[in-house]
Amino acid sequence: MDFDLTLAERDFRDEVRTWLEEHLVGDFADLRGRGGTGQDDIGAEQQIAWERELASGGWLGIDFPARLGGRDCSLVEQVLFHQTYVEARAPGRLPNMGVTLLGPTLVAYGTPEQQERFVPPILSGEEFWCQGYSEPNAGSDLANVGTKAVLDGERWVVNGQKIWTSLAQHSDWCFVVCRTEPDATRHAGLSYLLVPMDQPGVEIRPIVQITGGTEFNEVFFNQAVTDADLVVGQPGRGWEVAMGTLAFERGASTLGQQTSFRQELDALLAEARANGAADNPAVRQELARAYAALEIMRYNNLRMLTVVDAGGVPGPEMSIGKLVWSNWHRSLGELMVAVRGAGAMAVAAEEGEVYSLDSWQRTFLYSRAHTIYAGSNEIQRNIIGERVLGLPREPR
Ligand SMILES: Cc1cc2nc3c(=O)[nH]c(=O)nc-3n(C[C@H](O)[C@H](O)[C@H](O)COP(=O)(O)OP(=O)(O)OC[C@H]3O[C@@H](n4cnc5c(N)ncnc54)[C@H](O)[C@@H]3O)c2cc1C
Repeated sequence: MDFDLTLAERDFRDEVRTWLEEHLVGDFADLRGRGGTGQDDIGAEQQIAWERELASGGWLGIDFPARLGGRDCSLVEQVLFHQTYVEARAPGRLPNMGVTLLGPTLVAYGTPEQQERFVPPILSGEEFWCQGYSEPNAGSDLANVGTKAVLDGERWVVNGQKIWTSLAQHSDWCFVVCRTEPDATRHAGLSYLLVPMDQPGVEIRPIVQITGGTEFNEVFFNQAVTDADLVVGQPGRGWEVAMGTLAFERGASTLGQQTSFRQELDALLAEARANGAADNPAVRQELARAYAALEIMRYNNLRMLTVVDAGGVPGPEMSIGKLVWSNWHRSLGELMVAVRGAGAMAVAAEEGEVYSLDSWQRTFLYSRAHTIYAGSNEIQRNIIGERVLGLPREPR
């Protein structure tokens, strides 16, 4: 792969940089270097306002087709956008699942009517989505989904419970994997429905996380309804669509991660030098390990980019990337505690109030979740073992 940028690509990068300079002002100036997954230091309302600001500049879903409000950006431009964004210390993004998951799914599997109805409001920041996959008895084993939907004339009637539904309380719509053929089992007989959240049949109960935030929720569907034509793909064939959505979960945005990980590691190195922790050989060893692993991740990312840029589709090898980055960042959280020592455990809390954490404390606690969502460590290892290395399947 040629890593030299063309003139047009350099212009694109300058455009991103300039736009961010011009728009991270006023109320948004204060958001620099804050926010992001697991960082509850920016309220959801502010994050949504920033998503809408990005949308006003046409920066949501830049890879989407222009006919639906996107920019048709190339992979290199997408990577440049995410890198430049992080370099500018622009606010950590809300996990905007309309942009990252549902939108690409509709482009791949939706009808033209569904694309035209739903993609433009996603890219303009008017409508937000949440992902209704996991249930108390269906996480890694998603095929065990028990939420049911029945077609009743012109509408589907949905009953059941979802859990860990991120940002459900701020979402207008949910894409719900549910069972529409009661006699079918496992992967068969599932459908992928688009369900409005603002209706009497939907109840949302926030779950308080270890960081003190309430990013995810339980969602109960009790005679909730949606229009008959709001099923993506064929009724009963939702498994295929649901897996298609997961394939989008590790898209180009994760490539900007490399830059933010580097910023975090640099800050940690500076702190270790300043407070003397770097003089401890055990800590120094771990810092060196983190540095080397980050370089390896960078090369692995470039290798994946090369495959995609050459027109290929990264397959189960993507699991290697997920396994490596999630464990790396979790270890970095532990290293942040080790570098700071006992002081890392001190939190400020008024009587009866939720404690407030600083960003390193939040990283330490929240990064425990990285190795669970989007496929746990064990599931990634199963995929790598079975589909990359060709080892025998695990016994069922
Ligand atoms: C921060 C966060 C946000 C999330 N957001 C959403 C969301 O928006 N929408 C949504 O639908 N879900 C969401 N999830 C849920 C997430 O997808 C599930 O937590 C994940 O799929 C694991 O399922 P589970 O929690 O039921 O654990 P389980 O599947 O019950 O797993 C428990 C343990 O068993 C291991 N295990 C399971 N099966 C196997 C196997 N075959 N071989 C070896 N080990 C195995 C797992 O690795 C894990 O260690 C979120 C989770 C987190 C942590």
